[in-house]
Amino acid sequence: MVEESFQYHAEPASREVARRAWNDIQTCREVYNHALTQDYHPAPDGDKPSYTAMQNKLPDWKRQWSEWGEVYSKYLQMAVRRIKHGETVLDELETKGYDVGELKWKAPREYRSITYNQSGFDVDSNTGRANHATVDFSKIGCFHLSYHRPLPEDGTIKQIHLKKQKTGEWTVSIVVDYDPDYPDKPAVEDIEPEDCIGIDLGIRSFVHDSTGRAVDRLDLSDDRERLEREQRSLSRKQHGSKNWERQRRRVADVHQRMTDRKDDFKHKLAHFYTTECEAVFVEDLDVRGMLEGDGNARNKAGVGWRGFIRVLKRHGEKNGCHVVEVEPNGTTKECARCGVEVEKPLWVRTHSCPSCGFETDRDRNTALNAFSRGLEELGVVHSEDTPVETTLPTGTDSVPAKRVVEAGSPALKERTVLAVSE
Ligand SMILES: [Zn+2]
Repeated sequence: MVEESFQYHAEPASREVARRAWNDIQTCREVYNHALTQDYHPAPDGDKPSYTAMQNKLPDWKRQWSEWGEVYSKYLQMAVRRIKHGETVLDELETKGYDVGELKWKAPREYRSITYNQSGFDVDSNTGRANHATVDFSKIGCFHLSYHRPLPEDGTIKQIHLKKQKTGEWTVSIVVDYDPDYPDKPAVEDIEPEDCIGIDLGIRSFVHDSTGRAVDRLDLSDDRERLEREQRSLSRKQHGSKNWERQRRRVADVHQRMTDRKDDFKHKLAHFYTTECEAVFVEDLDVRGMLEGDGNARNKAGVGWRGFIRVLKRHGEKNGCHVVEVEPNGTTKECARCGVEVEKPLWVRTHSCPSCGFETDRDRNTALNAFSRGLEELGVVHSEDTPVETTLPTGTDSVPAKRVVEAGSPALKERTVLAVSE
């Protein structure tokens, strides 16, 4: 069984439905803020209440503030539960070495969704229209979904999130438990090192892999310029006016477009690696984040990489490919051929080993180390006599991000031909 979230664009059936939905989201926000500030931050050394203890206060609050009694009680419970959930996330980050603050009161624009847990909704995908489904939400009404991807047939719906994005568009995310029928991953003893790959997530290129392929970062400069233009224009409008609101949505649209483009790029790249290879090795970034301090350029790019690793793992499950995170300590310094530590500041782009003479691109050396650590970790049997790098072509094949986006793969046709004749 896996849990997966299916997201759809949604259209409220009427203005009234949209108004009720936003209204109820804001009621959830009031309850969240009240619970957080009045109840969850008790006397300094007082125990924090359990989720159930907070939920049990809801009937009292509803008697006190009658408008809270008019909305669907299940999602008020979920709003209170959000505090506990947020706290858990913060705790996890803290144990991983991040500097975290505490949960804060939320302003209207920061609280944009409502969660239905297990009941209070009715999903209908047999509407007689292609790519169309509806969800009927208790106390709110009906939303039309652009149903581009059907829900798994024998799945169980766990939760539904209804969200108003900053662009003003509505989305419905349906969380389903189902048996995905994914292909089995190959048995470790059947895996050949040639069918594995090590990946370095870099600054200059987005990924640099152990075969010498360097995929450029996605070029977002046009979007960034447009974003700046729209933001400048927003700053000249009168805050809160109709024009300001229209312009604010334009800014949100550009943000959304950038997110969509990045997601598309990551999915295509992850699809390529997990279908081409039987195992993909990548550094464990949570560990690396702890090894390097804040303000480090790598750390700043870390959010995007973590997202990519998540996508990579999901595609690994779907395509029957092992995705293994390896110990990152020393992967940039260590010589991939002889293991001697070679200190090099960030601007030195070549790894050149004074001990064994091995020379290659700095990021490729890191990828090769991820590769051999991954083989070790997964338990792939390989001959110790052949250093890993000699089984792989040398040199770097630079791949523009555009090719990944347009062809769905960073593979070069010419490269396959070359590989055969080599
Ligand atoms: Zn060496």
